[in-house]
Amino acid sequence: MFSYKERFKYFLKERNLKYTPERKEIIEAIVKLQKHFDAEDIYQQLRRQESNVSLATVYRTIPLLVDSELIIETLHCRDKVLYERIYNKKHHDHLVCINCGRIIEFYNEEVEKLQDEICRKYQFLATEHRLGIKGYCKGCQDKLNIKINSAKEKK
Ligand SMILES: [Zn+2]
Ligand SMILES: [Zn+2]
Repeated sequence: MFSYKERFKYFLKERNLKYTPERKEIIEAIVKLQKHFDAEDIYQQLRRQESNVSLATVYRTIPLLVDSELIIETLHCRDKVLYERIYNKKHHDHLVCINCGRIIEFYNEEVEKLQDEICRKYQFLATEHRLGIKGYCKGCQDKLNIKINSAKEKK
């Protein structure tokens, strides 16, 4: 098992790209970030590490990190594009609150199985899937006084 740094170094070498000091600092920042983060969060972490890498360099480096399968674009929420580390991580899906930005992660065997069945039905070879449900978390529903008209009530 490689570390994020080793994996990134290896990926760049394979592509004949240099493991520059900027790229090294960016990958060092990424492993320190919270679960879900955007380009601005990477930039803020770099500032904390007293790195001078620019936000433009962060934006230019993100596609490399995605290609190297170290991070994935998880979801778009409130004008933000969020990423998360996926190397050596277990697959999961997300519920996103569009009011406060809270992200709930979940893994459901039946949902996974159902997706496999759908692919089989269409003879589709899946390489990845991302399930994101947007809405309001419990706290925001209470705050905004939103009532859920769930199917349960209709029964
Ligand atoms: Zn919320
Ligand atoms: Zn996640």
